[in-house]
Amino acid sequence: MGIATDVIHAGQAPDPTTGSITVPIYQTSTYVQDGLGKHKGYEYARTHNATRAALEENITVLEKGVGACAFASGMAAIHAVMTTLLRAGDHVVVSDNTYGGTYRLFDKVLTKFGLRFSYIDTTDPGVVADAIQPNTRMMFLETPTNPVMRLCDLRALSEIARPREIQVVVDNTFMSPYLQRPIECGADIVVHSTTKYLNGHSDSVGGVAVVTSKEVHEKLAYIQNAAGAIISPFDAWLTLRGIKTLAVRMKQHDINGRAVAAYLSTHPKVTRLYYPGLPTHPQYELACRQMDGFGAMLAFEAAGGIDQTRKVLEGLRVFALAESLGGVESLVCHPASMTHASVPDEDRQRLGITDTLIRLSVGIEDCEDLVADLDQALAQL
Ligand code: PLP
Repeated sequence: MGIATDVIHAGQAPDPTTGSITVPIYQTSTYVQDGLGKHKGYEYARTHNATRAALEENITVLEKGVGACAFASGMAAIHAVMTTLLRAGDHVVVSDNTYGGTYRLFDKVLTKFGLRFSYIDTTDPGVVADAIQPNTRMMFLETPTNPVMRLCDLRALSEIARPREIQVVVDNTFMSPYLQRPIECGADIVVHSTTKYLNGHSDSVGGVAVVTSKEVHEKLAYIQNAAGAIISPFDAWLTLRGIKTLAVRMKQHDINGRAVAAYLSTHPKVTRLYYPGLPTHPQYELACRQMDGFGAMLAFEAAGGIDQTRKVLEGLRVFALAESLGGVESLVCHPASMTHASVPDEDRQRLGITDTLIRLSVGIEDCEDLVADLDQALAQL
C-alpha cells in the first residue's frame, strides 16, 4: 500500500469485539485469566497492551522494519536501544550535532556504565571511517541534524558499517517516514520522538524504535518490559490518531517550510540560513536523493547581537516561543538556551549553535500568515 493508506490502516484492523473502526484505548493494568496458566496472551499491561501493539505495528510498516517497540518518550526509546545493543567497553560514533538531550544521555549517563562515544562530523563518510575503533559497535546518526540541518549520507555510511558489523541507528524525528525512510537506505534501527511529527498535535510525549531483525526485536521487547519505560495506552492512542493525518500534514509542512525558507533567503536582515531545500545548502544534492521533501525545520541568524535575536523571538505572534517541534502549530526556539543548553559552550560555537541562532518549526497554518509574522518581527530590527 502507499504510505497515505498505511498511515490510516496499518496495524489497525477493526476491533474484534465491537467492530470499532478506531483501535480502543485498552486502559487496563491487568487481564483476567480463565484458569491457572490459561489466558488470551495478555497477562500484565507493562508487558502487553493492544493499543500500544497497534501503534508499534503501524510504525513498523511506515518505516519498513520488522518490528517496533514504543516507549514513554523519544529519550526512553534511545536509552532502550543503547542498553539492548551495547555493553561496557563498546564504542559509538555519534553525529556531533545531535539533539542536546541525546548528547546529555550519552555523555552524562551512559559513560558511567562504560560506554564510549566519539562525536564527529558525520556529514563526511571519510571522517566516520577514520573514527571507527576495534570496539565500535554502533553509529548513532541524525539527519538532518538539530538545529543546523546537516545531512548524513545514509547509504554511504551503511556501506562502511555493514562489513564491520556496526549497527546503524538513525534518529528520523525531523523527517518522519513520510519524507525519509532510513531502513531503505541501509540503516538497522530507526528511532523517533513520536512527540514530534508522528503525533503531530503537541499533545503527547512518546518514542519508538523500529528494528530490522526479529532477534533484535525480541531483545528490545525484553528491555521494554524489564526496564518498563512504556508508552501509556492513551499516549499510544493519541499518536495513532495523529499518524492517520501524517501524509496530509507533512505535505503542508513541506510546502510551508519551503515558502518560509524562500522568504528568509532573500531578507536583507537574515545573515545565515540553514535549510536543506535551498540549492545553496552544501548538501542540497544529497537532500534531493535521500529525502522525499525537505520538511519544515530550519534555523537562521539575523543581523545584530543577542538583543536583536531576543526582539525576533519575542516579537513573533503566530510562531509560539516554545521547545519541541513537529506539531501543527508553528514554534520558534533559541537552541543555545533551550534545546541545546546541555551542550558545552565551546562545542555549541564550533557547531554553529551560536547565541544568535533561531530555530523554526514551521507549522501548517496559512503560509501567508507565517511569512507576515516573520516580516513584522524582522522589521523591528
Ligand atoms: N530526537 C530528536 C531529534 C529530538 O528533537 C528530541 C526532542 O526534542 C528527542 C529525540 C527526544 O524526544 P523526547 O522529547 O520525546 O524524549
